[in-house]
Amino acid sequence: MRHPDWGDERNLETFGRDFGPHGHEYTLDIAFDGPISPDDGMIVNISDLKPLLKTALEPLDGQFLDVGHPQFATQRPTAENIALLLWQTLPHSVASGTLRRLRLQESRRVRVEITPHTMKTSRTYEFAAAHRLFAPQLSDEENFGRFDKCSNAAGHGHNYNLEVTVAGAPDAQTGFIILPQKLDAIVDAEIYARFDHKHLNVDCPEFRDLIPTSENLAKVIFEILSARLKNDGFELAKIGLHETQKNYFEVEAGDLQ
Ligand SMILES: [Zn+2]
Repeated sequence: MRHPDWGDERNLETFGRDFGPHGHEYTLDIAFDGPISPDDGMIVNISDLKPLLKTALEPLDGQFLDVGHPQFATQRPTAENIALLLWQTLPHSVASGTLRRLRLQESRRVRVEITPHTMKTSRTYEFAAAHRLFAPQLSDEENFGRFDKCSNAAGHGHNYNLEVTVAGAPDAQTGFIILPQKLDAIVDAEIYARFDHKHLNVDCPEFRDLIPTSENLAKVIFEILSARLKNDGFELAKIGLHETQKNYFEVEAGDLQ
């Protein structure tokens, strides 16, 4: 990833470790909706789709995109710009189906999503924290009745997975909706500094009068990140919080109004 008008120092400062040549095993996910055709019982027949996908993907597959694809002679090959190229290349109408959503997974942590009216990028973070589910107006016995072992007096911990989704258009110079290092620094300052390796009930004023369930933690994280990103000129679209592999919580923009 390199901006041709910038020196190595500015490129390195902007793109960090993405500056040097490196590869990804991208996964593309596209979704169509529409009426089910009475002829074949399908919205889109995969046989119709396969050659269209081949045409769109072949120029990208196995390439060093910076030099191997004409689109990226002038644009940075970020997941945002690759997803946009695919959105422009793929047909939006196939049989009775209409293309409604395109997702490009760049790595386990990074995903871009395009729909007809929005574009979003998501990055995933992990932090560890302890909590005790405890309602102060209830007795210890009542708390155990309601929260079971999650009300253990000394607390217990989780490795939370946090997915942060920012909406917007990619910057013309960098190709990112938000520079990865910028979002990392915001999550570092606003989330890790507050909650990582903390006991939410004991160390975090946010939970002095709030039970630190993952519902409340997701709400608090959304409010903190939304305000900070807005202040920096970005739009938080959603946060997703995995407390365990079984339990997932999310807050989307508009949910808390
Ligand atoms: Zn827990």
